[in-house]
Amino acid sequence: MLVDSHCHLGYPPLRDDWEGAFQRARAQGVQLLLLANTMLEEIPDLEALCSKHPELYRTVGLHPGNCSEANTVLLSTILPQAISGDKVVGVGEIGLDYHGIQEGSPSAQILQREAFQIQLDIAQSAHLPVCVHTREAEEDTLSLLSSFPGIRGVIHCFTGGLPFARAVLDLGLFISFSGIVTFPNATTLQEVARFVPEDRLLIETDAPFLAPVPHRGKTNEPAWVACVAQHLAHLRGKDVDWVARQTTENFFSLFPLVSRG
Ligand SMILES: [Zn+2]
Repeated sequence: MLVDSHCHLGYPPLRDDWEGAFQRARAQGVQLLLLANTMLEEIPDLEALCSKHPELYRTVGLHPGNCSEANTVLLSTILPQAISGDKVVGVGEIGLDYHGIQEGSPSAQILQREAFQIQLDIAQSAHLPVCVHTREAEEDTLSLLSSFPGIRGVIHCFTGGLPFARAVLDLGLFISFSGIVTFPNATTLQEVARFVPEDRLLIETDAPFLAPVPHRGKTNEPAWVACVAQHLAHLRGKDVDWVARQTTENFFSLFPLVSRG
């Protein structure tokens, strides 16, 4: 059994072919999918989708790329309620994404940090794990995460190097690898994939983005988490069943609200 620990079935074109995507996922042994929420507006849609499909669970949260002053204000009222919704097992995806905003807009960074902090706070009070997105913001991500001691969570679609991986592991967090780890030029990331302790490893697609080798350039889908598993097995000198077992066990350990079926 495989788990896709992070995907976006609500995005086009995946949202037009849910049934097909599930079928192809099942055929690859992918039996659980965690849907990451990025906009407050999509919460009702994802809730409806999850209620229809036993293999789906979800997180709720506001992605740093969607932070605005209005959204950040809404967070404090919407999120505390949303986390008690059906099949919500974590808060995410939340975090910091400074790509393209360093110059000229310090306020965007401030707003992202504020939204991240609000959501970390809500997650910690509710004892829910967090699903963290970080891009070009490692230092601030670490500093905010470390101000919430004992917080459980995962850095999703990890793209950092060994020093960042070590710091993240020291905070007790998990590290999730996406299709990027299969890219031939991702040598630094592949080094991290060999290094992460086996009980902290997760795998994901981040579909519809970042299709793994040999599907690069296509619309990614949950079935292809099998390619990520395969490559991770190759990097660690294990068989793919080992990766499947270990990452599934880790997923249940990080997200205890997911039913073991
Ligand atoms: Zn995502």
